[in-house]
Amino acid sequence: MRLRFPLRRPTRLVGGLLVLTLGLSAQPALTAGPALAAPDVASPLSAAFATAAARYDVPRDLLVALGYAETRLDGHGGAPSASGGYGLMHLTSNPTLHTLDEAATLTGLDRTVLRTDTAANVTGAAAVLRSYADRAGLTAADRKDVGRWYGSVVRYGGATDPAVARLYADTVYDLLSAGFTATRGGTVTVTGRRVVPQRGELARVAALGTGGVGTMSTDYGPAAWAPAYSGNYTVANRPSDYRINYVVIHVTQGSYAGSISWFQNPSAKVSAHYTFRSSDGAVTQSVREKDIAWHAGNWTYNTQSIGIEHEGYVDDASWFTDAMYRASAALTRNLANKYGIPKDRSHIIGHIEVPGATHTDPGPNWNWTYYMQLVNGVTGIGSGTVNTGGSGTLNVRSGPGTSYAVVGSVANGATVSIYCQTTGTTVTGTYGTSNIWNRIGTNRYVSDAYVLTGYNGFIPNVPRC
Ligand SMILES: [Zn+2]
Repeated sequence: MRLRFPLRRPTRLVGGLLVLTLGLSAQPALTAGPALAAPDVASPLSAAFATAAARYDVPRDLLVALGYAETRLDGHGGAPSASGGYGLMHLTSNPTLHTLDEAATLTGLDRTVLRTDTAANVTGAAAVLRSYADRAGLTAADRKDVGRWYGSVVRYGGATDPAVARLYADTVYDLLSAGFTATRGGTVTVTGRRVVPQRGELARVAALGTGGVGTMSTDYGPAAWAPAYSGNYTVANRPSDYRINYVVIHVTQGSYAGSISWFQNPSAKVSAHYTFRSSDGAVTQSVREKDIAWHAGNWTYNTQSIGIEHEGYVDDASWFTDAMYRASAALTRNLANKYGIPKDRSHIIGHIEVPGATHTDPGPNWNWTYYMQLVNGVTGIGSGTVNTGGSGTLNVRSGPGTSYAVVGSVANGATVSIYCQTTGTTVTGTYGTSNIWNRIGTNRYVSDAYVLTGYNGFIPNVPRC
């Protein structure tokens, strides 16, 4: 909002806390304090990790970080990932990786229970990791050192390419280093700490995407190169033999490292040209653009398209970060310009829109409005200053309206980045009345009525959500 002089808002004291009185009292946009996160101890999921870690003497935080890297701790009701992984720990049963079967043998638990029951799934993963640690000769003292579990994590991921194996395990150790809080199925927190991963032979291998010699794409500068297994795509000479008319948008139903690894697996019989990482928009190419990746489930469309995968699951919008949308849109724009593909929804399509598609990706959580504007060059990021008119903080909500859940708060005076704007609930705030909501992060929205952006209305060149 543009107004320089905030409207005067009356304040009142409730329970000793200063709160701001709103024009729309039934739709509070402000809160006097955050206090959102429940403590770990209240979470059955946290208890499941603690129990499994103690039973198999696996570092609890390592278990949590591995599960978070695989699924963000979402078991998807026992539905399999693209590579045949189950549950929040992604216990896998496919022709080359058998962690689900190993878990069944080690724990005596039924495979169905391991796939669908959260505590059993965590227990199974702990048992598998411990068996790998034993085979690697880790002593009881060694097991206390999280850095010594690196090889077991690599083995659990099952990647055959050393650079992808390192990417997989480094992802887990990066999470341990940074720390994180997962809120799905109860709050589970891992506190960041200094980690010294014992990488063994992989210490000499550059992790994928870190610029090691020979690891970068020759088709698209920002992309790392991790070639798919030769039996998972068709060599061609596009665009001279097949015109490239489409970009097909996919969601991996699996992790970034896991998906890249799956395309390298001879049993996969699938591939995509590019895969994007949720957390930061990093990208890896698996199939040359001239070649035909097997991603659309339709030979005609495969021959005429570039397939782009996005890390995540169709039923969970939290994977679809602004970083990933923006990085992916930059590639799609590059491809459209290179091959003369119209930048419209008839040519930039979802997997579900391919005739005969049996897959639903990218699903209803994929924001096509936002994505297509980015593809068409509306790529600005706005900036605004939060003004609550007092000492209150501004509620951050999961969607563009006061009926959405409060997922955080922003302090008065804080600066926010605005990735896209949309309309929602009308709110009367410091800068008057507005139905514009600003997306300041993935699934994080604030009312524009409390944000000084310099514009009365939508900000030019910032996409609509
Ligand atoms: Zn797909």
